[in-house]
Amino acid sequence: MNIINDNNCHWINDLNFRNNINIFNSTEDSDWLIVGAGYTGLSAARKLAQIYPNQKIIIVDALLAGEGASSRNSGYLVDTTLNDGFTSNKELDNYKKKTDIYDLGINTVKKFIYEYQVDCDWNECGKYFASSKIEDEKILKSFSDTLTKLGFEHNLLSNNELSKRLGTSFYNVALHTKGGVLLHPGKLVRAMIDVLPKNVNLYENSPLLNWNKNGDVINCNFKNGQIKTKKIIFAINGFLKSLGIKSNYNFPITLTASMTRPLTNDEFMSIGQPKEWGVLPVRPMGATIRMTKDRRILIRNTAEVHNPYKMSKLNLEKRSISQRIGIKKRFPQLPDHIIQSSWSGVVSRTRNSSQIFEKIDNNIFAAGCYNGSGIGVGTLFGEQIAIKASEENTKEIETIESRNKPTWLPPQPFLNIGIKTRLIYERLRAKSDI
Ligand SMILES: Cc1cc2nc3c(=O)[nH]c(=O)nc-3n(C[C@H](O)[C@H](O)[C@H](O)COP(=O)(O)OP(=O)(O)OC[C@H]3O[C@@H](n4cnc5c(N)ncnc54)[C@H](O)[C@@H]3O)c2cc1C
Repeated sequence: MNIINDNNCHWINDLNFRNNINIFNSTEDSDWLIVGAGYTGLSAARKLAQIYPNQKIIIVDALLAGEGASSRNSGYLVDTTLNDGFTSNKELDNYKKKTDIYDLGINTVKKFIYEYQVDCDWNECGKYFASSKIEDEKILKSFSDTLTKLGFEHNLLSNNELSKRLGTSFYNVALHTKGGVLLHPGKLVRAMIDVLPKNVNLYENSPLLNWNKNGDVINCNFKNGQIKTKKIIFAINGFLKSLGIKSNYNFPITLTASMTRPLTNDEFMSIGQPKEWGVLPVRPMGATIRMTKDRRILIRNTAEVHNPYKMSKLNLEKRSISQRIGIKKRFPQLPDHIIQSSWSGVVSRTRNSSQIFEKIDNNIFAAGCYNGSGIGVGTLFGEQIAIKASEENTKEIETIESRNKPTWLPPQPFLNIGIKTRLIYERLRAKSDI
């Protein structure tokens, strides 16, 4: 397997180069192996090292650590999300369980940045669920009822107020939630790499090719070496299926995003000098769009079934054009060619939006499938799967496990046909807001 990704992501380019990279090319025995060094894997490694300061812990990544989805996302640490069914009482109960997990996720990240004094451009400014379509007010009012029942502070806004706050008159209705944080995802995951304890060995550009269990030992094969480990944690999110983990319960989706250069003073004044903000779409396939602290505009408006290992330059350019149009629709006064970087990233989905948090066999554990909430939930699940693998229990684990398990998915080719049809339908429904 050869994981290749474009290296044009602004959040990554914004960081200093690292020069302490080790590639795995030996034969080693280990107490623990963690596969995947994003928020989930790094948090699992940090926690395991605290629990077992004298045990050997190895973490491997196919790319450079943190440079998968954990550096490529839009940076919304969410307290609530909109696009799940939640009308009956039973669904309200499910929704509450989901937001309980989000809450734990926010607190885990908060604790991490407080403990290690991390600067990741943390801004507790809440977020908007917005639409250009007046008729979407109905959806937002029903969402508002749900949030009221669960005690989330929020308010509904219309065009005039939104224009002042966002610097665009594109949106006609929105719901602003007070909870939720905007941050720099690259800075957050870089901090998780920087603070890895001494008994954690990190190997990068070292994809795990295959693995098998032989009695109490798990044999893991790399291009130039092998690790024999007692316990293993799979933290590879969008790539779980590729290593045969819960294959019938998750599938990868590829997203693309673009970021502009910082707006000039004149450009910024022309849109009313708004404070930093983040908008999530009311219809699932609409654009996520964000004004950053340094006056850049970020837009993500694609989600598709695509080869998760590679997006060609040409394919990325096509998506970048759609993102340029998305920005122009919202900010017609800005110049046409202000996008500075475009990138793709891979996430993992389940059929019923539940996450994977499981012991899948003796000494084998997996966590992933967070859809658009992996910053908080990934950090939480990483720490908690390490605790679960240590055969301890916590209130957090009880909360996580009280949610429904992911449901079974049909086999190929029916799965891809089903996903593609759904994505096309949702894209048509959200056409005006892409
Ligand atoms: C464009 C985009 C926007 C998003 N926006 C948001 C957002 O605003 N808020 C939010 O909360 N979430 C968002 N997400 C989702 C979020 O980024 C993910 O849920 C989160 O990063 C998952 O973290 P992780 O550590 O589980 O997985 P990842 O960060 O994907 O890490 C998994 C790692 O496993 C490695 N790997 C894969 N296969 C192998 C192998 N065989 N051997 C070794 N290593 C392997 C990969 O290289 C990767 O580094 C977004 C994602 C994308 C792509």
